[in-house]
Amino acid sequence: MGGRGVLRTRMELPPDERQRLLECSQEPIRTPGAVQSHGVVLIVDATTFEVEYASENSAMLFGMDAAALLGRALADVTGHAAVSAIRDVLDETVAAANPVSVIINSHSFDAIVSGAAPLVVGSPVTGSPVAGSLVAGSLVTIEFEPAILSSPLHSASSLYDAILRLSRATTIGDLWAGTARELRILTGFDRVMVYHFHPDDHGEIVAEERPDDMEPYLGLHYPASDIPAQARELYLTKLSRMIASSSDDGSALVSLSDSAGDASGTLDLSHAELRAVSPHHRQFMRNMGQASTLSLSLVHDGRLVGMITCAHRTPLRLPFLMRQGLEILANQVSLQLASMREIERLTQQVRVRSIRSRLLGQLSGTTSMAEALFSGELTVLDLIPADGATLHIDGVTTSIGSVPIEAELTSLVDSARREGLELPVFTEEISSDYPQLAVFVPTVAGMLLLPLGGSGSYIAWFRQEISKSVNWLGDQTPNNRESTLSPRDSFSSWTQSVRGSSTSWAGLDIEAAELCRDLDGVLLRRAESKLAALALHDPLTGLPNRRLLTDRLEHALTKYARGEELALLFIDLDRFKVVNDTYGHDVGDALIVHAAGQILAATRSQDTVARLGGDEFVVLCEDTTGEEADVISRRLIDAISEPLEAAGTTLSITASIGVTAANLSFSATELLRQADTAMYRAKQRGRNQASR
Ligand code: GH3
Ligand code: MG
Repeated sequence: MGGRGVLRTRMELPPDERQRLLECSQEPIRTPGAVQSHGVVLIVDATTFEVEYASENSAMLFGMDAAALLGRALADVTGHAAVSAIRDVLDETVAAANPVSVIINSHSFDAIVSGAAPLVVGSPVTGSPVAGSLVAGSLVTIEFEPAILSSPLHSASSLYDAILRLSRATTIGDLWAGTARELRILTGFDRVMVYHFHPDDHGEIVAEERPDDMEPYLGLHYPASDIPAQARELYLTKLSRMIASSSDDGSALVSLSDSAGDASGTLDLSHAELRAVSPHHRQFMRNMGQASTLSLSLVHDGRLVGMITCAHRTPLRLPFLMRQGLEILANQVSLQLASMREIERLTQQVRVRSIRSRLLGQLSGTTSMAEALFSGELTVLDLIPADGATLHIDGVTTSIGSVPIEAELTSLVDSARREGLELPVFTEEISSDYPQLAVFVPTVAGMLLLPLGGSGSYIAWFRQEISKSVNWLGDQTPNNRESTLSPRDSFSSWTQSVRGSSTSWAGLDIEAAELCRDLDGVLLRRAESKLAALALHDPLTGLPNRRLLTDRLEHALTKYARGEELALLFIDLDRFKVVNDTYGHDVGDALIVHAAGQILAATRSQDTVARLGGDEFVVLCEDTTGEEADVISRRLIDAISEPLEAAGTTLSITASIGVTAANLSFSATELLRQADTAMYRAKQRGRNQASR
């Protein structure tokens, strides 16, 4: 058993396979114009109940030729009592349901009635096939299945027990395995498989029950194309599908108006129990050693998430009621699967979210994003496990773990930008998703690359290739087909080595994107507070500027109004222009910064030292009397005159200071003007002194 091949994970379809799929997609599977020949189908006019279509096999089961049935009243075939029961099924006001038990020619049948929905292809299909009123010209389909002698009561109670047992499953794996086990007991089919469809629609056999002498398929994968798109759609329309015999060519539906036999090809049989099977699918079944199958759809949110397939080596079928019961079981399993998955997803989300918020918490203790995310107690690798991660912010690159070298990263990001590739880039297989980027980072297979802020900063996670093998249901190469357009001959396990891809990010890409959104927020707030600080401070000395001083002064004046003392000192350096003219503007700047430092050193921390511009400074002293301010002014004169070594010389400068104590009638502007005037007086009196 088993072959070996080297292919890529995502199979690129060769032209033959594409052609085969195209043919499958064009097979008239909804409108085969024929029915499975173990039953008979009559289609009658909804008002007259005269037979309009009959399947060709009528003679075999009813002892009446299809041709002889056409145009006859249904009552002639089934008797009046049966017609009345059939009408009841169609009547919404009567609590009657399928199937209707009918005896024809001393044979018992389950009659399954569907009507009112337009049955002709091209008309819109609305509502359920049974509900609705009977419209003149519309058709009613009656499918006669030979009755199977089994006790429906026994089936119903075993079904109930099975559903109850399955409801106790605690893991998805248990539920899958239990479903296969229960279905095998309930149906008696040789092999029961549960399929799970991956997000790319390829299938995996996740549970299996089989006799020992049958080849195991458990764990094997099969390509999405095994169930062509239109067949997939039909599994959503019709939740159970019984195929009684893979060797049955079907029995054509004939009508009076249809001597050529093709008018029945316009009948939409999507909902019919007995819809004939496409030759391609029957070939597929025979190649798999299946004579009969029963498939049940596992549907969640309108998507086919899985299937239960029961297969038998000889023709085997189940009564309609049992199939309906199994649809309910499958629905129960789908709901359970969905809630288990949701619990899994939420559990993972809670875990990841808590790591994310702790990681963001680490940001508050530092101004360095790199430090917080890459060398804190938790790192970005705790949030998103990978071989390595890189942060590139404000031109600085920080990495953790195993990442491409910086030159490779630069080429990667530059190339992405040059090609107009929009970030973020999420990939588990860079060599096939982004070959143009893969050349720069040969050691990488999986990558999450997300932009940060708006200025070329980014954060990235890298994973290396893991080689793994996937076991396929049958060799997927053309060697395993009779002709290029036939289904696979053998379904023995065929191992494919998968290269070039990393482990799956499995939703962590979303977490990465959310982290980036949070980081963007942090960056934005930091930029804003930096801007706000700039707007209130003098860029040369970092001292509060006139705006901030005015704010503080106004605030201090309200306190003054409540009785606190307040004094203002206005400082202007003496003959500062000479310094500029003699030593240049830069040395002038250095002297301004020196003077600012001296003023700060000579005042209390609660005083506000502001630079108004040029060589002018103001010191706002709260809780200070005029006399105390005089003392401060003398201290300041000494402090400012402390020499500065600059431009290869020793510079010393003096200052003139105006001192003002607040007065109740002064506004902030007036108080400043008053201090300025006092300063001017000091200048006039010879500079290097203070004045009131
Ligand atoms: P006075 O004793 O009368 O104050 O003489 P002064 O030379 O100091 O004259 P004034 O205060 O009126 O002029 C201050 C000078 O400071 C004017 C300007 O050239 C210079 N200045 C203003 N802003 C700056 C600056 O940011 N850096 C430097 N280096 N010089 C500045
Ligand atoms: Mg001056």
